[in-house]
Amino acid sequence: MKKILLYISAFIMLFFIFPAICTITPKNETYEANAEETKQVDETQTQQEEQTPEKYDYQKYGTIKLLHTETNQVEELNIDEYLYGVVASEMPANFEIEALKAQATVARTYTIFQIINNSAKHENADVCDDFNCCQAWISKDERFAKWNAEEAEANWNKIVEAVNSTSGKIITYGGTPINAFFHSNSGGITESSLNIWGGIDYPYLKSVEISGEDGYTQYSSEVTFSKEELLTKIREKYEDCEIDFSQENCIQIIEFTSSGRVKTIKFGNKEIAGTEARTILGLRSTNFTFSINGDNITFSVKGYGHGVGMSQTGADSLAKSGSNYEEIIKHFYTGVEIIEVNSL
Ligand SMILES: [Zn+2]
Repeated sequence: MKKILLYISAFIMLFFIFPAICTITPKNETYEANAEETKQVDETQTQQEEQTPEKYDYQKYGTIKLLHTETNQVEELNIDEYLYGVVASEMPANFEIEALKAQATVARTYTIFQIINNSAKHENADVCDDFNCCQAWISKDERFAKWNAEEAEANWNKIVEAVNSTSGKIITYGGTPINAFFHSNSGGITESSLNIWGGIDYPYLKSVEISGEDGYTQYSSEVTFSKEELLTKIREKYEDCEIDFSQENCIQIIEFTSSGRVKTIKFGNKEIAGTEARTILGLRSTNFTFSINGDNITFSVKGYGHGVGMSQTGADSLAKSGSNYEEIIKHFYTGVEIIEVNSL
């Protein structure tokens, strides 16, 4: 009888308890793994939830601190009031209203991007009024003084309308505000940020074609130097530069970027970046060619500015052909969305 009981116990152990233990263990592991995954997801969600209101609460950017570089004074301004001064300074008021609206949206996005990503740039301010550092800005009084008296009020009202009608609108890529670069005139094709500054290859700052820019004065320019003047200019930066002008390829464009801008150029024994040549020679863009005639070297330049992001004259040209400000923005910034910050 005992033997039978022992067999039954062994049978139960073998077929029920062991398998039960064996299956319970992995189940628990699986459960824990899921729990871990769930926890990680929760943490990510929490991080997003924590960051979202702080990062994108438009109320936080409702007032910005503007540094006046000449007086070193910091002024607190409503963001849209600040943007009146930016748009008034950055784009001619006689441009189409949709171009001005695109500029207002770009400037708002640029401002918020600066606050989020470059907050350490100025100690007690969010942005400054120097266009070389942040964005150009002009007060209403200063702006009025530069306009014809009979046009001033209408011009200002047009700018106010451009800013107010896009209030709260910013440009995002993948849910975050873009680094909204802009320039005056691309010369027919914009440049990717990578080709100008290297570093981050922003997916929304790609080269795109634009027609109609040739109707603007910023489209073409020329700068002429004598051979001696040119050498002196280069030597201000590169003392040991030697150019033997009797040699055929004494000045030579070595490489172009994909948009046709000068990537590398050689002056005698010096090979320098197109961007550097632009700075040294004071050219309007890196979209240039040159010709040597007797003692003179003439640089023929297309476009005005670095060429990255929105071309302002291109925006005006698109507006003239019927594009609205959202279409203009999406033309210049690849794959972006325009969102209402207050809706986040
Ligand atoms: Zn600044």
